[in-house]
Amino acid sequence: MEYLTLNNGIQMPLIGFGTFMLGGETCKNAVAEAIENGYRMIDTAEAYGNEKEVGEGIRQSSIDRGELFLVTKVNFKSYENAEQTVMQSLANLQTDYIDLLLLHWPFANYYGAWRTLEKLYAEGKIRAIGVSNFEPDQLLDLIAYNKVIPAINQIETNLYCQRNTERSWMDKKQVSHMAYAPLGQGNRNEMFQEPTVLSLAEKYSKTPAQILLRFLTQKGIIVIPRSTKPEHIKENFDLFDFELNTAELSQLSALDKKEPLIGRPETPELVEFSLTW
Ligand code: NAD
Repeated sequence: MEYLTLNNGIQMPLIGFGTFMLGGETCKNAVAEAIENGYRMIDTAEAYGNEKEVGEGIRQSSIDRGELFLVTKVNFKSYENAEQTVMQSLANLQTDYIDLLLLHWPFANYYGAWRTLEKLYAEGKIRAIGVSNFEPDQLLDLIAYNKVIPAINQIETNLYCQRNTERSWMDKKQVSHMAYAPLGQGNRNEMFQEPTVLSLAEKYSKTPAQILLRFLTQKGIIVIPRSTKPEHIKENFDLFDFELNTAELSQLSALDKKEPLIGRPETPELVEFSLTW
């Protein structure tokens, strides 16, 4: 396992397990399976409605809480009640602290919510605080008018959406880069069929998914692939016994289409979706 040191000095695993759209027994079993296979970081969110099942999956695995790194997010609809929401997340996850708490979207009163997170961070209920889906201008403004610099910005990042512009701003402010949808949400996506990805997979006796994830982690990007299949859960974690060389990293970098697959917060469809959801 490789780790990244966040801007407040704490260490975070470079790979974790994503739980978007997982619920019930499936979620519980997938989380337990991931921990069984060595994952030590789990990413959930208030909006996923599965924090309880994530907590149950953790208990099923019988791992010590101290060995885990738990990430959850406050939904923008709860920003006016952020403290209460975080307390509920703690209860759902059956823990008395959260390792990393993110503001899920830059909608509604995110300045108010950020100040609540700053308070909970100062009280020790959260080890690090960060944001998600923040564009550079939103991130820079939040930093300029608050005390704590976000430790993380979790943004869609994958082969086709590498986020170099966003990353350069994040680096300037020491905000670490966490990728969601690191596999472009699955193998129906053509990134799994890219000739460069396929030939690297053959060269290193790895799968396309492992090449896609290793590419990101070698760039210091934290990844949180999701799967319910035991073989994929295992495969996605098995990344650290090979290294892409500089020329190979450049070949993969050249495949950036700079196009998010899921959308940006300012796209009307997404705003519409989030306001009616
Ligand atoms: P992902 O890129 O992790 O892709 C998941 C899909 O890939 C699943 O359909 C799975 O079956 C498939 N898959 C997984 N491993 C595979 C493998 N080895 N070979 C072939 N197919 C494989 O997509 P995601 O779940 O959207 O993103 C990862 C995590 O990021 C989420 O689960 C969630 O925790 C987080 N997330 C955050 C936000 C946000 O707004 N902050 C948005 C989306 C997702």
